[in-house]
Amino acid sequence: MPELRYDPIRSRWVVIATERARRPHEYVQKHEEPKGDPSTCPFCYGNESKTPPEVFVIAPEGRKPNTSGWEVRVVPNKYPALRIEGELKREGLGLFDIVSGIGAHEVIIESPHHHLSLGDLPVEHIKKVLIAYRERIKDLRKDVRFRYILVFKNHRAEAGASLPHSHSQLIATPIIPPVVVQELNVAREHYSRKERCIFCDLIKQELLLKDRIVYEDEDYVEWAPFASAFPFETWILPKKHLHDFALLNDNDLLKLAYVLKDMLQRIKTVLDDPPYNMILHTAPSPHPRPGREYYWSTIHLDYHWHIELVPRLTRIAGFEWGSGLYINPTPPEEAAKFLREAEIGPID
Ligand SMILES: [Zn+2]
Ligand SMILES: [Zn+2]
Ligand SMILES: [Zn+2]
Repeated sequence: MPELRYDPIRSRWVVIATERARRPHEYVQKHEEPKGDPSTCPFCYGNESKTPPEVFVIAPEGRKPNTSGWEVRVVPNKYPALRIEGELKREGLGLFDIVSGIGAHEVIIESPHHHLSLGDLPVEHIKKVLIAYRERIKDLRKDVRFRYILVFKNHRAEAGASLPHSHSQLIATPIIPPVVVQELNVAREHYSRKERCIFCDLIKQELLLKDRIVYEDEDYVEWAPFASAFPFETWILPKKHLHDFALLNDNDLLKLAYVLKDMLQRIKTVLDDPPYNMILHTAPSPHPRPGREYYWSTIHLDYHWHIELVPRLTRIAGFEWGSGLYINPTPPEEAAKFLREAEIGPID
């Protein structure tokens, strides 16, 4: 019998097919991915002038800006979804609310290697990518127009990547995106009723039950969520309560890089390098809200940053669109088992 499961974080129901669970090989699709040409790729060495000037870089000392030799490079998106210049205006038009399209849209070029994806980079290098995430979040938070900075990654064209050279992106928005608002509200409500973090509660419960755990070490846990909306959806959470990713030090990020590589390698091995989306959920910008001082007063106690990864294996069709009910053909317990038992190489 299929099961409807309620997601305590997203406050929504998911249909989990339990009878004829789809196995990993049934999702694998062979596709010819455009490989791109390093000589013309704007993210490769020598083509730095093809992107807007860099806003952050990890590079050896003495390197001239916007030349080769860098390890991680962050540039504004050439075709930004929101514009950095301008005044933030909020207006109402009857029932309609309008906020000017102010924001930042940046590209984190993860390495100079045209053919290596994030999960294939050395742990030491992945740490540098995470440092770039942290530094850009910290810098963009200085701009009081931005309420939230979402870091995300689209891997392969089917997941939305427009260039084959491995990169992440971030978008700073003048409002908090709805998916994040939902999480923040749930976390705040849980805290106001119980004086506990809902994510810490979930961690405790999942570690006790064990059947959805993919991997754990001293600092982090990887699991397939109880009400995964998508097959092989996987999350990484820090075991230690912390609301804000930007507060991590370099050593925390090195440990995270290890777990992140572990997750990406498991997904790659089990599903033959599928397209995926990965997102980082962390606390919103801590700017004071005039008249709403209470708004984030418990955020450091109630929210818990995490990383979510969704391999793009199924399509969202009419039923999902119309009902908000997702159908997941692989129970998370089975997905976790495949991922847990995946034979991956050494993580270093
Ligand atoms: Zn390239
Ligand atoms: Zn917590
Ligand atoms: Zn989340």
